[in-house]
Amino acid sequence: MTRQSASSLPARRISRAAAPRVSAAARLELLDYFLVHHEDLSRCAQASLEWLARHAGVRRSICLAIDGDAGLLVGVAGVGVSVEDVEEYSAPLTHTHDPIVRALTAPVPTTLRPGRDNGHGRLPGFGASPVLAVPLRNDRQDEADAVGVLLVRTGTSVTGEVNWLATVLGQKLDQIRGRGSMTGELRKLRRERALFFTIINSVTDPIMLTDTEGRLIIANLRAEKLFAASEEESEGRRRAVELNNMLFSAALSRTVVEAPSEARELLLVDPSDGSDLLFEVLSTTVEDPREGTGIVSVLRNITDLRRATEQIEENYQRLRIAEAAVRAERDRLNLIIDSVADPIIVTDQSGATVLMNAPSEELFTVAAEAPSTAQRTVQSNDAHFSSFISGLLLGESGPGEIRRGEIGLMNPLTGEPIPVEAIAGKVLTETGELTAVVTILHDRREALERTRLYEQLRSASDELQMRVQSATAELATQNELLRRQAIELEQASRLKSQFLANMSHEFRTPLNAILGYTPMLLQGAAGDLHAKVRRQLTRIDSNGRHLLTIINEILDITRIEAGKMPMQISEFNLNELVPEVMAELDPVISRSKLTVTCRLSAQPPIMVSDRQKVKQVIVNLLSNALKFTHQGGIEIGVDFDGAARLSSIAVADTGIGIAPEHHDTIFEDFRQVDDSPSRQYGGTGLGLAICRRLANALGGRITVQSNVGEGSTFTLTIPAEAPQ
Ligand code: ADP
Repeated sequence: MTRQSASSLPARRISRAAAPRVSAAARLELLDYFLVHHEDLSRCAQASLEWLARHAGVRRSICLAIDGDAGLLVGVAGVGVSVEDVEEYSAPLTHTHDPIVRALTAPVPTTLRPGRDNGHGRLPGFGASPVLAVPLRNDRQDEADAVGVLLVRTGTSVTGEVNWLATVLGQKLDQIRGRGSMTGELRKLRRERALFFTIINSVTDPIMLTDTEGRLIIANLRAEKLFAASEEESEGRRRAVELNNMLFSAALSRTVVEAPSEARELLLVDPSDGSDLLFEVLSTTVEDPREGTGIVSVLRNITDLRRATEQIEENYQRLRIAEAAVRAERDRLNLIIDSVADPIIVTDQSGATVLMNAPSEELFTVAAEAPSTAQRTVQSNDAHFSSFISGLLLGESGPGEIRRGEIGLMNPLTGEPIPVEAIAGKVLTETGELTAVVTILHDRREALERTRLYEQLRSASDELQMRVQSATAELATQNELLRRQAIELEQASRLKSQFLANMSHEFRTPLNAILGYTPMLLQGAAGDLHAKVRRQLTRIDSNGRHLLTIINEILDITRIEAGKMPMQISEFNLNELVPEVMAELDPVISRSKLTVTCRLSAQPPIMVSDRQKVKQVIVNLLSNALKFTHQGGIEIGVDFDGAARLSSIAVADTGIGIAPEHHDTIFEDFRQVDDSPSRQYGGTGLGLAICRRLANALGGRITVQSNVGEGSTFTLTIPAEAPQ
């Protein structure tokens, strides 16, 4: 099928170029350019019709010519109609009843009306409009010499131009016919044209030939879909076509100006659905001596290609991001693996090592120059490890499966055995495929050493426990013994006290009798006494009294210890008690020739305590002061701390003093600073012992401040209220 594509398109452009009257120059153009230079019938006819369209505004026209060999009158060219329409015109010359065949021989142009004048009832390409059939003949005006018919739509006021063209074209066709076999040439031409259009229509890309101003000369079917629309087609489609033409013209003009042979992208609209279509336009300028300069454009639809490119680009970007993520993940993994002190090995599904950290390398790799023993050790380590891993690889796999086991490895450098605990875990993909096995080797030497030490420690601890148990038992036995001894001692002490109390009592009765009778005898109850007897009686009396003192003091101690000296609590004023004691000892004080003074408390020290016991202590302290002081004086100071409810009585002398090392011993029973048989001072050594016991019973204490030759101060401190 041949198709004169240009026929349907130029309508829009032709209307712009149309002029009411045709200049001589325009006529000359047709004659000179088209008809003189073109030698084939069809092209001359086509060029003439196009000239008519351009210069005379004849939008639709068809040229029919006689094929002498076939005896037919056939359509050879058309403008504003389709190729099919042109080809439909084919009438045998013998059909003289055919209005068009008749028009061939008619002396003047005939007006044909579709449905009436045409044998087929219609005039293809002209619709329902009446058509003017102008016979084409040479200038001899010989009716028999008509070589064809020119069909134009009637109603145009261009009859002059049509007639002129009919004459010129008639002459030309006659001339061509005269030169050779028009029919043969026409057939050849038609075949070539058919082939040409078959070829360009079979190309899936739009192909177009345009003039330099962008006017379409030839277009294939694909191009027509984009750039051509008849008036019957929808408004939307026509608009789209119009837009495409504008876009293409603009692109083409840029191509011509900028880079003619370079491929450009052109965005067009699909007239059928309004979607965007991206084309790559490759334009080539062609020069034809007769046709002039034209531009062949091939449009390649790259919409899908662009989409695919974008998709590829997007996928590539995604791939790169994923790649970077994988790389980062791997770096992180490496960092983790390298920072772990235990050897870690990652193997693939075939058991080949893909990754290992530095501690692993020490076990499983060796330098090429290392001694052969080291090489063998590494091989042996590898074999042990491989057999462990193969167990996991061959065994039934399940997600998160972990295998534990012990492997006996060796240090390749030292040959030292390294027992390790291996823990291997499978790394599976989402679909459960095994991708890698991660194995961590844990050096068990430390753990074994710890276990050994622990065992040692445990046995030592057991032994210690046994010893402690036996020692505890021993201690319990000792305690029991001590307890029994304490009971025995207590019993003995009680018996001793009892014995002393009894004995003292027994001593005192006869002693009292002696002391009763001796003064009586001295006073002459039994008559006058000889001076010698009196002296001896006086000694009996004084020794008897001394003995009584000793017995009384022993009795006091035993009583206190036996708890037989109960507290007699009463309220009294210490400021009154002290002068009372001084008065009681007045004979001794007078004899001593010492100055004894008393400093009483400003605040009345009212005591609720055992008056007798307090008095006994003060008497004792004052007696000692008098006994151990030869010159100077004695001061008794009474103080009362109302807030603390404490009273103190300090007896300070200027006597012989006591060395610090004796400050404690003097309070012990029967202890004196000088306890030699040749001692200067009398006494039992029980006074202070009794005082301390009494002070304790009163809830207080006695302290001493003294140095040899510097006098002594004994202080009794007791609470104002004695404990019950
Ligand atoms: P004694 O009956 O010997 O006085 P004490 O128990 O009262 O027994 O005193 C014990 C010893 O403490 C005395 O023998 C004496 O050596 C010493 N002593 C007591 N009071 C004084 C003092 N005021 N000055 C020096 N020495 C003292």
